[in-house]
Amino acid sequence: MINIPKTEKKRVVIVGCGFAGLTLAKKLKNKGYQVVILDKHNYHQFPPLFYQVASAGLEESSILFPLRKIFQQYPDYHLRKVEVKSVDTINNTLNTSSGDIEYDYLVLAHGATNAYFGSSEMQKHSRGMKTIAEVLDLRNSLLMNFENALTAQSPEERDMLMTIVIIGGGPSGVEIAGALAEMNKYVLSKDYPEFKEIRAKIYLIEALDRVLSSMSPKSSDKARGFLEKMGVHVLTNTMATGCDEKSVTIDSGKSIKTGMIIWTAGIAGNSMGGLNADCFLRNGRIIVDSYNRVSGYPNIFAIGDISVQTEEKYPKGHPQVAQVAIQQAQLLAENLGRMKNNQILKQFKYKDLGTMATVGRHLAVVELPSVSFQGVAAWFVWMFIHLMSIIGVKNKLLIFINWAWKYFTYDQSTRLILRPKGCADISSNNYSTPE
Ligand SMILES: Cc1cc2nc3c(=O)[nH]c(=O)nc-3n(C[C@H](O)[C@H](O)[C@H](O)COP(=O)(O)OP(=O)(O)OC[C@H]3O[C@@H](n4cnc5c(N)ncnc54)[C@H](O)[C@@H]3O)c2cc1C
Repeated sequence: MINIPKTEKKRVVIVGCGFAGLTLAKKLKNKGYQVVILDKHNYHQFPPLFYQVASAGLEESSILFPLRKIFQQYPDYHLRKVEVKSVDTINNTLNTSSGDIEYDYLVLAHGATNAYFGSSEMQKHSRGMKTIAEVLDLRNSLLMNFENALTAQSPEERDMLMTIVIIGGGPSGVEIAGALAEMNKYVLSKDYPEFKEIRAKIYLIEALDRVLSSMSPKSSDKARGFLEKMGVHVLTNTMATGCDEKSVTIDSGKSIKTGMIIWTAGIAGNSMGGLNADCFLRNGRIIVDSYNRVSGYPNIFAIGDISVQTEEKYPKGHPQVAQVAIQQAQLLAENLGRMKNNQILKQFKYKDLGTMATVGRHLAVVELPSVSFQGVAAWFVWMFIHLMSIIGVKNKLLIFINWAWKYFTYDQSTRLILRPKGCADISSNNYSTPE
């Protein structure tokens, strides 16, 4: 049993302290509950800038924030770094990696992971960008490939190591493609003068007929134009049908030789045992009603990426973005307050504040509710909004300095290959992911 003394207050247990869990926890301050936060990491992470860490543009510490620091001034808040395995809904208990814990109200906010649509090959050979561990592995492997390309035994092997295939043309795929194209242009030429004219070749593969399909066709066209101008090969209406350690096959039958497959195409709920099977969609996300309550469980809620909730305007569910997670958390905190006072609960209605994606220096697309624009202005808006959304003054400052440095010097900060003990960081032609 996890030892947290019970008080006369009802206990809300929050699983996961991403955008949803963190917002809820903060908003529950002074609402009269004991709050227990469980997360398998001891930090809050900022996924919208993962691609900059993956492409060696930012240090990981500037997009992570220690959870204990956030909750120093919160009375009757209890944080435990544990992995939650399952729920016992009969006894209102959670089973975790460090024992059980009871709850009065349970809020599942444990987010999402990669979905590979049943392709075990893709799962084995591609690299994802859903956690900071995956992102660091991607960065190390990418830099290692460039090093190995210098000692490659044949031009074919060198080309394979210098070819990057990104699968999925949503915002994450577009942003990492743009960042790698910039790295290719401004950094590789200086770091690896031996390559002379040989640069990385970057493919972006998208099954639909346009990239950024959640945005307007105009933004999609602009983004594609930006990417192509930067040398990215954008293949739309193209499915990746298979892969092995050194190639990706597409539906035309063509095979692209590559030492780096980046997977941004699918999303599935992180697993959680103990709930009825009919609470889940096929991809593991948890179906909730308009109060974010899990069907059949009056005291269990799910918010953020793990939940799927429909409303008239979103018959297939909301987009899996930070604003949905934050707004659901804000309303749930208010509703938990209302529950305490036996008041009627409010239904969730998503307020879309807009979407944006950046491709590179002076190249971004922004769609706000009243206006859409692209190019330089969009890029500055993108930077401002992301900078303001990062937690912590120090992190804001670090990122600002990094961006300003990069803007004026065209250089990137962290081209270091760092592996934990036990993972070889000098591998002659070993391209597989370390355990
Ligand atoms: C690469 C990338 C780029 C993105 N870019 C944008 C963007 O530009 N704009 C935007 O709005 N959205 C973006 N998103 C989406 C956005 O990050 C998510 O919608 C948001 O993070 C969802 O918040 P959440 O709290 O539901 O989940 P998360 O932020 O994923 O948090 C989940 C938390 O649960 C914890 N956890 C997971 N499983 C367990 C367990 N079993 N036990 C204990 N703890 C657990 C994790 O450690 C984590 O802290 C991006 C996502 C990615 C991956």
